[in-house]
Amino acid sequence: DTFAEIDLGEALSLNIRRCKYVKPTPVQRYTIPISMAGRDLMACAQTGSGKTAAFCFPIISGIMRNGHSGPRPPRASRMAFPLALILSPTRELSIQIHEEARKFAYQTGVRVVVAYGGAPINLQLRELERGVDILVATPGRLVDLLERARVSLQMIRYLALDEADRMLDMGFEPQIRRIVQQMDMPPPGVRQTMLFSATFPKEIQRLAADFLLDYVFLAV
Ligand code: AMP
Repeated sequence: DTFAEIDLGEALSLNIRRCKYVKPTPVQRYTIPISMAGRDLMACAQTGSGKTAAFCFPIISGIMRNGHSGPRPPRASRMAFPLALILSPTRELSIQIHEEARKFAYQTGVRVVVAYGGAPINLQLRELERGVDILVATPGRLVDLLERARVSLQMIRYLALDEADRMLDMGFEPQIRRIVQQMDMPPPGVRQTMLFSATFPKEIQRLAADFLLDYVFLAV
């Protein structure tokens, strides 16, 4: 079993080969077909298991297939309308996901932008203004962007929560709930959600029950 056997689209498949990925890791082998089929997913995954690709491939492939954000908002409105949101607990992890996602999205027309706290917001705002399909963000900085009306989550079709247990340990649950609430506008049922966590305490199970719809649970 190789990536060549999965229909991810030509440009993405080429980038995967460029990254020298040949065989999916176990997490990728089990989660990618489920996500490609459009199902919600809660997966047990440790760092180093290849989970970044596991959530990036279906997102990039889906956006390539179904087109981009469509007509850009009027230039007067400086609001960005990402189609996919990847939430991660730390600045370091966000930067790492952004770097990988950009390699996978190379020449696909899919634009990836990162926004994290502890750094000046102006550069991030400028990147967002240039358009964004996939936003990688830490919860605190994203809430800031929502409050400034610089990001709208109305168009989100894919949501990935990376290291969800760590985000809760860091006290991000209120921010995460606020963020997801903003996506629950009509039409319902268009969002596909992937929740990745190393552990599954009660709090994570509650998040899954609240955010996921008819989901597949995977413990690799
Ligand atoms: P992650 O768990 O997503 O942080 O990935 C851990 C490391 O494994 C990263 O350096 C990835 O680039 C690499 N990696 C992920 N999936 C594969 C794969 N299928 N084949 C080879 N390397 C991979």
